[in-house]
Amino acid sequence: MMSRVRFLILGAGPTGLALAHSLLQRGVPRRDVLVIESEAVSGGLCRSAMVDGRPIDIGGGHFLDVRKQEVLDLLFHFMPASEWDIYRRVAKINLSGQEIDHPLESNLWQLSKQNQADYLESIARAGCVAGSPMPESFEEWVRWRLGERIAQDYMLPYNRKIWSMALDRLGTYWLHKLPDVSFRDALRSCLEGKPYGTLPAHGSFMYPKTHGYGEVWRRMGVALGDRLITGCQVNHIDVTRRTVNGRFTADTVISTIPWSEWPRMADIPDEIADRMAELVHVGIDVDYCSDNLSSRAHWIYEPCEQVPHHRILVRHNFCPGSRGYWTETNALRSGPAGIFRHRNEFAYPVNTRGKPEAVSAILAWAATQRIIGAGRWGKWEHMNSDVAVAESIRLAGDLVENKDGLP
Ligand SMILES: Cc1cc2nc3c(=O)[nH]c(=O)nc-3n(C[C@H](O)[C@H](O)[C@H](O)COP(=O)(O)OP(=O)(O)OC[C@H]3O[C@@H](n4cnc5c(N)ncnc54)[C@H](O)[C@@H]3O)c2cc1C
Repeated sequence: MMSRVRFLILGAGPTGLALAHSLLQRGVPRRDVLVIESEAVSGGLCRSAMVDGRPIDIGGGHFLDVRKQEVLDLLFHFMPASEWDIYRRVAKINLSGQEIDHPLESNLWQLSKQNQADYLESIARAGCVAGSPMPESFEEWVRWRLGERIAQDYMLPYNRKIWSMALDRLGTYWLHKLPDVSFRDALRSCLEGKPYGTLPAHGSFMYPKTHGYGEVWRRMGVALGDRLITGCQVNHIDVTRRTVNGRFTADTVISTIPWSEWPRMADIPDEIADRMAELVHVGIDVDYCSDNLSSRAHWIYEPCEQVPHHRILVRHNFCPGSRGYWTETNALRSGPAGIFRHRNEFAYPVNTRGKPEAVSAILAWAATQRIIGAGRWGKWEHMNSDVAVAESIRLAGDLVENKDGLP
């Protein structure tokens, strides 16, 4: 029997879950909304699993840091504020064995005097401080913005590890989020022995008291009842009929699953299939180790290229009653698995040079078929879960008002 719905949502990660609930909250009848998900549990990259008696976030370290009240309202509806702890963020960088607070450029004062002098000199010579034009290549851009030392000791090796590809494949259009480095602020910070400059906007985050980050998304899935079908992998899409797996057909399809998977599932015009094939992603392995660390950090960035992982999540510092830590490693760099490993094949969409044009072309074609791309994989962007939820709330409003939610 073919199921016909008004809105068929592919994928039950934060984007699909928030969209489905926002549609229902706006009065769309339950029978008009259906979510299909390949995994057994909803939550996508934000899922958690019990390992060594306590939760681990199997998609990597996840912390809630919300900018918009409507996002909090939606999430607290399923997991109230009383079930979350609030932490002041402690993020460190392991710089040749010394843990320095993140961001490095605001915390050079924690280095030895000799190193402070070297870093300050290299910031004074940075292109953006000296007023030279902004370069187009990623590596040159990082040197231009942060100076040679921060580039060499941290940013470039860290990026080589997390992406595990030639850095000249990356664009620079996404780096605007990095603050300008100010020589004056860096000098003041070294002289006064405290951080100066642009610090991360959100110095605190929330994490569930007795669960992993995945709990709120699991509950959102459960609350959808029969409007969520789990364990159902999308493997065939008839684009013209908007029919999925020959079982579900819809007026509008909202895809939160990776576009790069579409050509093997659907008949796509060649020029669009080529654009989909241009999209690049990386996989991340999450590996658990039961040892406790002496660090008081919640997480530690690891730029050393001899070490496979690029980040350590110190579980016992944010998950009460737990021990151990987990690491995040680009799947291409992983060694043998230890006591627990979860591989996320689709973890990071990569901001390659041609990506914005490729995504625009895909979304424009999809719109002509009443198919909407949403979320991390529908937009191919590094959005955090709170941003994914905010976008879904907005999209639900557009869909209900018949604005199609199309750009
Ligand atoms: C290492 C790491 C750390 C992060 N840290 C944070 C953080 O601290 N805070 C934060 O807010 N965000 C964080 N994020 C981002 C967060 O994971 C994403 O914003 C969020 O998961 C995006 O949700 P989504 O629904 O768009 O995508 P996803 O979570 O990827 O969900 C997509 C869903 O589609 C399903 N799917 C895929 N293919 C198919 C198919 N063929 N058929 C059916 N279903 C399919 C998947 O199983 C998945 O459930 C982090 C991400 C990573 C990788």
